Amino acid sequence: MAVALEPSLSRAEARLRIAAALERAGIAEARGDARFLLLQLLGLTQTDLALRGNEPIGPAGAEALADALRQRLTGVPVARILGEWEFRGLTFALSPETLVPRPDTETLVETALHLVRNPAPRILDLGTGSGCILVALLDVLPGARGIGLDRSADALSTARGNAIRNGVGNRSAFVQGDWCAAVGGPFDLIVSNPPYIASGVIPTLVEEVREHDPIAALDGGQDGLDAYRAIIRAVTERPALLAAGGALAFEIGYDQAEPVSDLGRQVGLTVEAITRDLAGHPRVVTLRPSFG
Ligand code: GLN
Repeated sequence: MAVALEPSLSRAEARLRIAAALERAGIAEARGDARFLLLQLLGLTQTDLALRGNEPIGPAGAEALADALRQRLTGVPVARILGEWEFRGLTFALSPETLVPRPDTETLVETALHLVRNPAPRILDLGTGSGCILVALLDVLPGARGIGLDRSADALSTARGNAIRNGVGNRSAFVQGDWCAAVGGPFDLIVSNPPYIASGVIPTLVEEVREHDPIAALDGGQDGLDAYRAIIRAVTERPALLAAGGALAFEIGYDQAEPVSDLGRQVGLTVEAITRDLAGHPRVVTLRPSFG
């Protein structure tokens, strides 16, 4: 359904018209999406919209908004339309091979920050995707350096761009590889938000995730635990990967605290903490070598 957005339309009217079109299409966050698209695509602050809502959107604005609305009406998530998303106050470019950064993952970053004991920690982020975890850590740890590892060359170039854009390009490197195989260590902190959804559950995910997030970043194999097994195996086989006093912090699915803890215990790692997310679900498992 085409929605006309004339260049002479005011910002406030454009916002109402977009919200109404999204509402008619049954999109849950219609008003929020309309406001956010308007601010982002016209480069406005909330104040601009509040105080100068009667200014026209102009030809370029009309075109950008009409294009965004068309996409949103076909189910494309706002983050994918904009091609970038905010995470811990930083902006991250996205690509088809990177997940949209989730609020859940902020719990991993928060937890990891508290694990650092060394003033110049070396960090490894496995399956870095957009780089949001590593970049957010480096942003608040000025003495830290880190490596982001991913299988996807496309994700790595996106992550590298995000590190530079957020001012940590000189303290980060991005390496292509399968889990830990391509890196040496030692690392004070190994973090990962690996794919952890059981393959059989993927078809039941909401369309915005299933159709627009990369399946390789979600699918954790038959029981969802393949990536944890692979990472824990690598750390066990190559003890030099973790520095003395080093820790491993994983994002997990809400029902994976026990199985992931068990995988760690089976190889003699200590479960130091299970951290809950804002919704109260177990979201991060922290493991340390018993000698650490
Ligand atoms: N939490 C993500 C989701 O709900 C899954 C991320 C992952 O598999 N690492 O889509």
